Amino acid sequence: MSDLMNVDDAIQRILATIQRLPAQTIGVTDAYNRILADDITAPINLPPFANSSMDGFALRSADSQQASRDNPRSLRVVMDIPAGKAPDRALSPGEAARIMTGAPIPDGADCVIPVEDTDADWQIDHDPADTVTIFRQSDPGAYIRPIGEDITQGTHVLDAGTLLRPQEIGMLVALGFAEVSVIKQPKVAILTTGDELVGVGEPIAPGQIRDVNSHTLAGLITDNGGNSIQLPIAGDTLEEVRALFQNALNAEPDMIISSAGVSVGAADLIRTVLAEFGAVDFWRINLRPGKPLAYGQIGGVPFFGLPGNPVSAMVTFDVLVRPALSQLAGRVDLVTTVPVIVEEALKSDGRRSFLRVKLSKRDDGQLTATTTGTQSSGALMSMVLADALMIVPEGVKYVDAGTKFQARLLRPLSE
Ligand code: AMP
Ligand code: MG
Repeated sequence: MSDLMNVDDAIQRILATIQRLPAQTIGVTDAYNRILADDITAPINLPPFANSSMDGFALRSADSQQASRDNPRSLRVVMDIPAGKAPDRALSPGEAARIMTGAPIPDGADCVIPVEDTDADWQIDHDPADTVTIFRQSDPGAYIRPIGEDITQGTHVLDAGTLLRPQEIGMLVALGFAEVSVIKQPKVAILTTGDELVGVGEPIAPGQIRDVNSHTLAGLITDNGGNSIQLPIAGDTLEEVRALFQNALNAEPDMIISSAGVSVGAADLIRTVLAEFGAVDFWRINLRPGKPLAYGQIGGVPFFGLPGNPVSAMVTFDVLVRPALSQLAGRVDLVTTVPVIVEEALKSDGRRSFLRVKLSKRDDGQLTATTTGTQSSGALMSMVLADALMIVPEGVKYVDAGTKFQARLLRPLSE
């Protein structure tokens, strides 16, 4: 029996402490990729008026009865209705109006005859001729897009919680909304500690390495609808770590994520400071990579202490932080999981393991997976090469080639 915490239990415990952020009103043009806070009901009809779906002539269908190439009918053209103009009169029997696609149908007309079925010389910058000859008959409603065909006023159009894609933004604009209520984007502070760590572009001394996690985490936060704040790296002293956490709280974040300093042995500094700032538990999770995790609240803000190794930091984000960030942001946590067949025999250690794999598609459509080489939790190249994280369940120690597993896609599959 393992004394490690089950991954799903850890997620449930975390989610139980996360409150969705409040709404804010923003301009609809800034709302792409945001989450709608309220249901949307159509305040108007779309289209707002009956309009022509063709360039042609609006008329009474009764006036077109029996018309054909052999039996042309002539009508008086009494009006020109370009797009963007409202008709200034109604049509009477025997009359037609030249009309452009999208222009309003005048009262009295009940159909449109496309210009191709008339004798008109279609030159929009010229006034129409006084008469038009039509070569076909038309039924009521032909080439008319009726008022409210797309949406009738008062219809429920969008649900609260909808991710605003281009089409939803277009709909909001069409309905006349200039502003929209969306859920606030989580502001996530990223904390980095370690004497060995050096920032981008800074001079580096022997024994030092670049701070990678701030950057991988920032990308993951953006991918999941948050805004990240990066704070300067703190060295391994109590004062610096304390100042870092204070800086983080001063930025009034909605979530704080640190990496490193949570494994046994490395933990003292972070533990001491976390105890001063809030209530944080140190968990050992049945997860590989990424067994150690600190989770709790500091200054009332949800706090994650992720492991320091770059792959562990990314995987624990994916498995544990992302559901929390999604809940904070009011987003559905979207993970695409596909069944794969592993092509090689593997050893596992009984923890739920997220192996970095490359995928290929067999002729029968089945996806197959091969590991990306070393699965060391510090080997970032395993993430660079990976198409997916293949999930070997807890309790499994030996995997035969040909076994089927689920895998989380890390990039869209090409066809
Ligand atoms: P620690 O938990 O502090 O013992 O760190 C575990 C491992 O992760 C060490 O090899 C660290 O150098 C490495 N590490 C910690 N933080 C970062 C970071 N921000 N970027 C890259 N590697 C890191
Ligand atoms: Mg360290």
